[in-house]
Amino acid sequence: MNTILTNGPVSAQQLENAAHILLSLQQELRTCIAQGSGPFLAAIYDEKGNLISKTANSVVAQNCSHCHAEMNAIKQAEEKLRTFDLAPHRLRLYVTSEPCLMCLGGILWSGIREVYFGVPSKRVEEITGFDEGFGTGWMEEFKKRGILACGNIEPQAGEEVLAAYVQAGKRIYKPSR
Ligand SMILES: [Zn+2]
Repeated sequence: MNTILTNGPVSAQQLENAAHILLSLQQELRTCIAQGSGPFLAAIYDEKGNLISKTANSVVAQNCSHCHAEMNAIKQAEEKLRTFDLAPHRLRLYVTSEPCLMCLGGILWSGIREVYFGVPSKRVEEITGFDEGFGTGWMEEFKKRGILACGNIEPQAGEEVLAAYVQAGKRIYKPSR
């Protein structure tokens, strides 16, 4: 059993739901990678469980450094709901790995209210060589702003996908060059 990382109370039902969604995303991510996406997939749902948006990392495919999965999913949700402020919609973001430095900012400004992630950044960096950025304590900062964050959910499934990405010789990019 993995230790769940969380910044607030999370129910067994919420965790079960998140595990179900994240396992499904990890599986779907394999197909995305085979089609040229980076090794991260994010989905946004509303409180009733309706899927609002779902996108993979498309940095290489779109030649755009900010096209991380979370940023893409937020953009798609805002376009769909025709708003720059998702807060009134009480949305939940699920992502296969812990958000990087840029995406933490993106999530914060989007108005997303709950964040659930699979593989913690430390493991992402160990497995892939990606650089997830700097700064610690983001979960506490999110808590101060009323955003629930919960992670290390079914991490083995995500670690397997990341390892397969590396083994396939796919692109690793980072701030230090
Ligand atoms: Zn990111």
